[in-house]
Amino acid sequence: MADNCFDVVIIGSGPAGLTAATYLGRFRRRCLVLEDGNARARWIPTSHNILGFAAGIGGTELLARLHEQATKYGAIICSARVTTVTTAGGEFTLTTAAKEHYKSQYLLLATGTRDHLPQIPGAPEAVMRSLLRFCPICDGFEAIDKRIAVVSDGPFGEREALFLTTYSDQVTLLQLGAPSGAPDGKWTAYGIEAIPITLSDLVIKDHEVSVRTKAGEARSFDAVYLALGCTAQNSLAVHLGAHCDEHGALSVSAHQETSVPRLYAAGDVVRGLNQVIVAAAEAAIAATDIHNKLRQT
Ligand SMILES: Cc1cc2nc3c(=O)[nH]c(=O)nc-3n(C[C@H](O)[C@H](O)[C@H](O)COP(=O)(O)OP(=O)(O)OC[C@H]3O[C@@H](n4cnc5c(N)ncnc54)[C@H](O)[C@@H]3O)c2cc1C
Repeated sequence: MADNCFDVVIIGSGPAGLTAATYLGRFRRRCLVLEDGNARARWIPTSHNILGFAAGIGGTELLARLHEQATKYGAIICSARVTTVTTAGGEFTLTTAAKEHYKSQYLLLATGTRDHLPQIPGAPEAVMRSLLRFCPICDGFEAIDKRIAVVSDGPFGEREALFLTTYSDQVTLLQLGAPSGAPDGKWTAYGIEAIPITLSDLVIKDHEVSVRTKAGEARSFDAVYLALGCTAQNSLAVHLGAHCDEHGALSVSAHQETSVPRLYAAGDVVRGLNQVIVAAAEAAIAATDIHNKLRQT
């Protein structure tokens, strides 16, 4: 096999890509991982819901451990942004930004999704300090009894505010633009205060985020969830003709194969719950199916 030819190329080295690389390495497959260093997982300050880490683990450390495990079983991991993928004659050809070319029989897309982070001064650092958050399933438990706000531009954020009443009776909905038509008093019935704001009203401080209401009142919060959507990193698959849902998440079979034969997908880029453990599970299923298909060729 030529140096640039692989059984499987995996695009992405987040939890999904690296788990698949470990499985494929242990299946003794020649496997290459290409990644552009922008995993969503690296933003995790400390996760408390990952199997086996009762004391919690940060995203950077988790990625380092997964990287070590994958390379131990032979995965080759290279920094490279994949810009195009084509398919012909039963193989994929990948081209990187540096104009390198790789070929593989199977391709696993583990490219994740990008959260929409508003341009507020100090926002990236505030994510790392858990002041700004994206996902109540991830870390709502760590906001128990805190002053929580949800920045919302529509129904998704409104559902998130309701979800967060599991954890605190001090939940405020900070609404951008027009509310979604919820009946007057709906939020009051759930003990949620709804306040119209613009993004520039948000001020990030050391230990809290404050906002001045239109009425001139200052309000402060211990944790602010941004419910402003995300963009699935699906373009390589879409160019190959893969189907996705109305939010851009890729549709896959029970074995994680997209609508394009031999193109698999796992993790946040796929429709489903955006969680580390889900990404890993989907990657295990994809890797095993790919190995079984390769055994038949
Ligand atoms: C602040 C924060 C806290 C979170 N907390 C938790 C938590 O506590 N528990 C939990 O389960 N989940 C948590 N999550 C969600 C978790 O990070 C994701 O579910 C997980 O990272 C998904 O893994 P993935 O492998 O699908 O994608 P990612 O981790 O996003 O990895 C995507 C990979 O694709 C690569 N890539 C994309 N496009 C290209 C390209 N064209 N060429 C080359 N490489 C490419 C990137 O470099 C990256 O390596 C949190 C997320 C955030 C932002």
